[in-house]
Amino acid sequence: MAELKADVLVLGAGMVGVGAALHLQQRGRDVILVDKHAAAGEETSFGNAGLVECASVFPYMFPRDFGQILRYAINRAPQVRYAIADLPMFLPWLVRYFLASAPDRALHSAMAELPLIRRSLLEHQALVAEAGVPELLRQTGWIKLFRSDATLANAAAELERARHYGVAGEVLDGKAIAAREPHLTGEFAGAVYLPAPGFVPDPGGLAKAYAALFVRKGGRFVVGDARTLQQDASGWRVAGPEGAAVGREAVVALGPWSDLVFRPLGYSIPLSVKRGYHQHLEPRGNAVLHHPVLDSDLGYLLAPMNRGIRLTTGVEFARRDAPPTPVQVQRALPRAHALFPLGEAIDAKPWIGARPCLPDMLPAIGKAPRHAGLWFDFGHQHHGLTLGPATGRLLAEMMTGETPFADPGPFAVERFG
Ligand SMILES: Cc1cc2nc3c(=O)[nH]c(=O)nc-3n(C[C@H](O)[C@H](O)[C@H](O)COP(=O)(O)OP(=O)(O)OC[C@H]3O[C@@H](n4cnc5c(N)ncnc54)[C@H](O)[C@@H]3O)c2cc1C
Repeated sequence: MAELKADVLVLGAGMVGVGAALHLQQRGRDVILVDKHAAAGEETSFGNAGLVECASVFPYMFPRDFGQILRYAINRAPQVRYAIADLPMFLPWLVRYFLASAPDRALHSAMAELPLIRRSLLEHQALVAEAGVPELLRQTGWIKLFRSDATLANAAAELERARHYGVAGEVLDGKAIAAREPHLTGEFAGAVYLPAPGFVPDPGGLAKAYAALFVRKGGRFVVGDARTLQQDASGWRVAGPEGAAVGREAVVALGPWSDLVFRPLGYSIPLSVKRGYHQHLEPRGNAVLHHPVLDSDLGYLLAPMNRGIRLTTGVEFARRDAPPTPVQVQRALPRAHALFPLGEAIDAKPWIGARPCLPDMLPAIGKAPRHAGLWFDFGHQHHGLTLGPATGRLLAEMMTGETPFADPGPFAVERFG
């Protein structure tokens, strides 16, 4: 069987792996991108809400407000649901998440990630231009609706806090909401409009367009199973149906499946998942949605994708491989129909995906401490579409000995002991 050789194998062709492959290629590395699917962007990077969240200074941490924790604990909050049977498995991770969400530690995570967040949109702008797909990145910003004065006040305070870090935003009253989105109906206390974030109307298509750019520039894309990864004298080897791919170095960019590679190598990194769902619906008549709209208090988001209006849900804590339980989609659907004129469902059943998360909501980027030539690039939580190209730059700078544009220290896996 054939054996392909390269400088670097990038394992996983989601937005994170494709971003790393492109940046390594830009720095002269011969790269093979390996995925279990025959195309890029078929998993988590396909199904997200499409936001390039360059205004998200503060990561999604565990709430510290007692009332909110109680709502989550009784499993009635629309934003978060947990599978009771899986709770014993999740509890130790949730405790770590809770501890990492203490105000000082949450601020540490936010400040560590800020250079990446600031870089995120610029990286996408450069890549869509080079890939020839400017239509896949719209400058719409997004709108967060609030149904109660209390939640609107919290969001307005959060916006004031974010302004210190250069985030622009506007609090909208009912009239201003109607001016931006004339087809919404409902009783709103108000909304926050963030103008800077980009919107990707086909996230899977964007990953594919970036992968096509990588191949046009001489990169190779092969089907292979990352679980077969082995180290030998020539470096790192992965088996696939067409033969083996061998690289002097390898990057683990397998998103929620990264543990399938790092665990057998002896690393105990607390990677977990926050599952989420989507379902596409037809807009009714000539109704148009101009921005992604988060119905914050009711826990779902509507995004105007090329395929239709994509309803995405909040977080479900359940095992990555447990059968789908799209309760949050079912609960959100009537609320979404009341918010915007929606017709028939386009998908036969809801899509499910899993946000790869570490307890401090920072990704793992950098050298595998005990294996020469092995690198990590996973755990991008709620922001993998946003950050894939930016973290790809950071990783490639580290791998090629350039001065990294951001301090990589906080992303080292050694932080977990
Ligand atoms: C409902 C929802 C909404 C979201 N909204 C947003 C958003 O608006 N903005 C944002 O920035 N982020 C969002 N996210 C998060 C974002 O989608 C993820 O952080 C991101 O997609 C992770 O990318 P990845 O490349 O690490 O993982 P993936 O996209 O899952 O890629 C991993 C790749 O590894 C491959 N793979 C797995 N196992 C193997 C194997 N054994 N061998 C070879 N290949 C393998 C898979 O096929 C896949 O291609 C959302 C997530 C969800 C679930």
